This record gives sequence, structure tokens and C-alpha cells, in this order.
Amino acid sequence: MSKKAKAESEMMLKLVSLAKRRGFIFPSSEIYGGFANTWDYGPLGVELKNNIKRMWWQRFVHGRGDMVGLDASILMNPKVWAASGHLANFTDPLVDCKKCKKRFRADHLLAAQGIKPDLGTMKESPKELKICPECGGELTSVRKFNLMFKTFVGPLEDESAVAYLRPETAQAMFVDFKNVIDSTRTGFPFGIAQVGKAFRNEITPGNFTFRTREFEQMEIEYFVREQDWQKYFEHWLNEMKEWVEALGLKAEDVFYHEIEAEDLAHYSKRTVDIEFNFPFGRDELYGLAYRTDYDLNQHAKFSGQDLQYTDPETNEKFVPHVIEPTWGVDRSVLAVLVAAYHEEAAPTADGKTETRIVMKFPKKLAPYQVAVLPLSKKDELKELSQPLAQALRQHFSVHYDETQSIGRRYRRQDEIGTPYCLTIDFESLNDQAVTIRDRDTMKQERVKIDEVVNYLKAKFDGN
Ligand SMILES: [Zn+2]
Repeated sequence: MSKKAKAESEMMLKLVSLAKRRGFIFPSSEIYGGFANTWDYGPLGVELKNNIKRMWWQRFVHGRGDMVGLDASILMNPKVWAASGHLANFTDPLVDCKKCKKRFRADHLLAAQGIKPDLGTMKESPKELKICPECGGELTSVRKFNLMFKTFVGPLEDESAVAYLRPETAQAMFVDFKNVIDSTRTGFPFGIAQVGKAFRNEITPGNFTFRTREFEQMEIEYFVREQDWQKYFEHWLNEMKEWVEALGLKAEDVFYHEIEAEDLAHYSKRTVDIEFNFPFGRDELYGLAYRTDYDLNQHAKFSGQDLQYTDPETNEKFVPHVIEPTWGVDRSVLAVLVAAYHEEAAPTADGKTETRIVMKFPKKLAPYQVAVLPLSKKDELKELSQPLAQALRQHFSVHYDETQSIGRRYRRQDEIGTPYCLTIDFESLNDQAVTIRDRDTMKQERVKIDEVVNYLKAKFDGN
């Protein structure tokens, strides 16, 4: 392993360990030995994740006059997936080893040998795909494996009862397009936004929460006139750049990868993958695609419904074209964890230095915004600190902790990224003031209890 690769895998181990130790992300079903590639967001993880989703909704739905929201069901009429092309085309090319029974992505095996695969036209396996890379056994020919999770609706497990867990949130925005324009007074152009889970039966998941079979998306379908698509593509590219900044990701760790014309999905005319420098390598974080009028036309054809938009002034009818920005929620959380992780030298009480781990989340995203830390468990301090914590809970997410030394409690708050720690000491009983410590600078200020709410509100303003 190279030095760089070693440092990268160490970084992931540290992050996975901190995530578990502090309650951000746990392996799912752990008391039963876990369940492959499933993860649970713990008490702090769910706060971080909800803060990200809330910031997104605030920014792109409430923060704009041209967006409405949707929360559609995960189970949809299977005809949706026939119309969208997922039933026929949402497949991975797989080969199996006849000897060791391992299963591989055919395109990955070819890419590892420097061959650009053209599996769509492949009649039989190319000669480079005959031998198992692990044991040298013989490989089967390429088979197409659909990535949608299949299930049965109702008591009968037959073909008529087959349904699929949605493999993307996008299709509901097209399927509900007519209901949305008939029920709301949207202007034009306008968008529909949705946050929700999607499912893909990936053969090679991995890298912690980066690629999981169950994941959450934040997605917008933005409907425009065909002649305006380039203008709005640029608009959304810019919006996504600003979003990445708001998450606290450094510009030098984010890449805008223009997909080559020959690699575009058949319905897309332009796609940009937004990639991030994860510790395991640069990989996809978000995507922006121009989907043309493909989806609405497909659903009009398969449903027999008119999915045109009528201009209220000119009565002109047309099928809108679509710009689709997509954000992975789990990947956002992972990128924010990676970007926030810092190790730095910090002075101890006895004049030495130690390494402190500090999660420098953007203040608004931190799971807890404020920690209330009475110096001792004595009742006289409780009488001051508990009502103060309760008053602060009306404005902020608050963590109350009265055990262990204050130094250890600060370290703990650093590790969970709490921007401000309030310490109540015996002097507080006399001066009715508390010490407020800043996570990043470790500077402390004495603030009157009456002024604490306004002091903190000012600190969170614009952050
Ligand atoms: Zn094998």
C-alpha cells in the first residue's frame, strides 16, 4: 500500500470509528452481526442529516418563488418503470465465476484491463472476460441484472402482484406533473422538489455510507422551454456550487466533471457530475442533467394522458424540457463529516499539548448548537444551569452534560462539533454570568445570563 493510500484508509477508519463512538452512524442490526452495507444514523447523525435536508428545503423550496414540494410513495404502479425505461435498461452486466462462485461487474473487469466496454452491443463475452481475476476459474457469459428491488403487493406472490421499490425519486415528479400544475398556480418555468429514499440492488456497494442499496436523494425537476435549457442548466450549476460552499466543502476538493457526449444517457444532452475528494478517492457527490422532454413524453405515451403545459396567456401548449439537479443525502452527510474532521494540537490544563479532534461543521449544521456544562453536580449550580438549558432549548438544539472533568467534556463537545459550550461555575452564582467557549478558536468570553440568547443568536446569524 502506498503512503497516500495508507493515510486515506486510516482517515476512513478514524471517521468510521468516531461516527460510531459518538453516535453519528452505526452498523445496522449490529447485535445480529450486522447486515451487509446497511447503516443507521444515530442520535447525532439524524440531527446532522435533518439539518442538511432542512437547509436544502429552505434554500430551494421556501427560498424561491418558482418551486413546489412533493412527497410521493416509494411503491408506484409498475408501468412507471416500463415508461421510464428502468425495466428494460436499468441493469448491470454481470459475470459469475463457475469455480469460486464470485460475481463481478463485467464492465469493471474490462476497465481494470484498460478496455472501454461496450456492453450494450455485446452478443457474447469478449475474450478478456473468460478468466476469474480471483481464482483463474472460468467465467459465465455476461448477463443483465436489473438493479430494481422487486417485491409483491398483496397476499399473492405471482407476476400480477410484482412491484418495485423506486430506484430514483425523479419519476414521481413526472408522473404527478399534471396534478401539480392543475392544483397549484405555478408560473413558468417552475420546479418540483422532493426528498426521499430510493433503492438499488447494487452488486458492489461499499466505502461506508458512500454506496448503499438504500439511500436518500434530494432532487429537483425544473421545467423549462426547450430554447431556454442552456440558461437554466447554468443557473442550476451555479446554485449547486453555492450549495457545496454552504456545506463547508473546500472548493479545491470539489470537481465539476463534464460527461462526454458518447457517455451520456440516451435521453440526456448534457450532464455534469459533481465529484468530491473522499478519503478513498474522487467520486460522485451530485449530478446535474438535462433530460430533455424524454420523461414527460414517455409517460404521456404509456399513460395516454396529455402532459403538456398550457401557457395561461397565449394558450400555447407544449411539453416542457427538464433540468434535473440531484443531491445524495447520505453522500452529503459523508462529505460534511470528511470536511469537518480536524486534528490539531491543543494546550492542556497542566501546560502540555495534546491532539484534539474537532468536527468543524458549519455552525448551522452541527447536531448540537450549544452545550450547557455546569462545573459541578452540586444542587446550587443545577438551580442555575437547568433553567438556562431549558430556556436555550426554545432557540437552539442543546446538549446538557454535568459529568466528568470540564476538560474531558470540552473534548467530547469538540468531537461532536458543538460550536458553543456554556460553563456555569460557582462565580456564576455571584455575577449571574457564564463562560462561553468557541469551538474553533477555543477563546472564552464571560457573558451575562440575561444576554446569552441574544449573544448566541448573533453568533449563528449568517453562519
Ligand atoms: Zn473465481
